[in-house]
Amino acid sequence: MKLVKNISLIVLCAILSCCKQPEGGLMYYTSAGQYETVSVTPPPADAQVRNVILMIGDGMGLEQISCAWVLNHGKLNIDNFPVVGLSRTYCTNSLITDSAAGGTALAVGQKTAIDHVGCSPDGTPLYSILSKARELGKKTGCVTVCHLADATPCDFCCHDECRDNADALIADYLDCGVDFIAGGGRDYFGPKRKDGRDIVEEMKAKGYNYASDEQQLMTAPLPVLGLMSDWNLPVAAERGDLYRHMVSRCLDLLSSESGEKGFVAMLEGSCIDDWLHANRIDLAMEETLDFDRTIGDVLQWAEKDGHTLVVVTADHATGALTLQDGDIAEGRIGVEFGNDGHNGIAVPYFVWGPGAGAFGGTVENCELSNIISSFIK
Ligand SMILES: [Zn+2]
Repeated sequence: MKLVKNISLIVLCAILSCCKQPEGGLMYYTSAGQYETVSVTPPPADAQVRNVILMIGDGMGLEQISCAWVLNHGKLNIDNFPVVGLSRTYCTNSLITDSAAGGTALAVGQKTAIDHVGCSPDGTPLYSILSKARELGKKTGCVTVCHLADATPCDFCCHDECRDNADALIADYLDCGVDFIAGGGRDYFGPKRKDGRDIVEEMKAKGYNYASDEQQLMTAPLPVLGLMSDWNLPVAAERGDLYRHMVSRCLDLLSSESGEKGFVAMLEGSCIDDWLHANRIDLAMEETLDFDRTIGDVLQWAEKDGHTLVVVTADHATGALTLQDGDIAEGRIGVEFGNDGHNGIAVPYFVWGPGAGAFGGTVENCELSNIISSFIK
């Protein structure tokens, strides 16, 4: 997490301190409402994999999923996945990873060091499953809730030894060739750059169609650069269905433009992690539940398509969260945070669709990426 983000979160938490953990007690939270989950049937196991969708819940470990499950009264869309396993998240120089190293392992199929984005520990650029897909003539997408200078989207599209080199990372989007790029972070493309460059204009010169709001995003043809906000997208309660609409547009457009070739997309539920760092169970859970709603949309889309492999996982878990009390019928949880950082517990992964039989058991995060990559051909 960037220093500037940390400072912003601290300020926000000081203002919004309605969810503080009482000393020696649990923090309680009750969901605002319940949503209907979908029920989907995977295509036959021998169906051909044409499209691959990797969904990353940043900081979304089993503890976060369990809490969300209670809050939605014992139902989640993620329950539809027939294959579940565990992914070990440690990186080359630390048991406790970050989104740079953790996301890079998922993106490129090799573990790397803390802070390293899309590159090896010695800084050699490594290319993601999106790059591989592009080389094979497939369409590609990257959609996030956070700003596009944040580690996870950069892990898939950019290369730098330091995740804090926002100017350099954003400039890498010019060469990544990803067809549908959408998230927040307008400031990093122009106004807040130290080098005075206007990367939006440079992307337009490369042929990108720029969208600065939802309406424009819904009509812009490929290739698309969609910057929906100056920094991260608004919190889940304020943005409504914006993220879900961004994802739906991405899938529809990539699918219609790629035909038989298919596409590969990375969709991130980014801000689960941010609010766990701030020990804000309410906001972290709203992000987790929004991500689960999006998973429901994606599964329904994939069911209709019949040739789409969907994998959901996390880069690491955050907050050393423990679920210690609650009530499923009331949608209420009582939790405790053990820290405000990441932890070293293995995270779950969930697989749905053709090819799911190739997954299962406990794997290294990079191995998970390599199995996904084997279906990109
Ligand atoms: Zn984090």
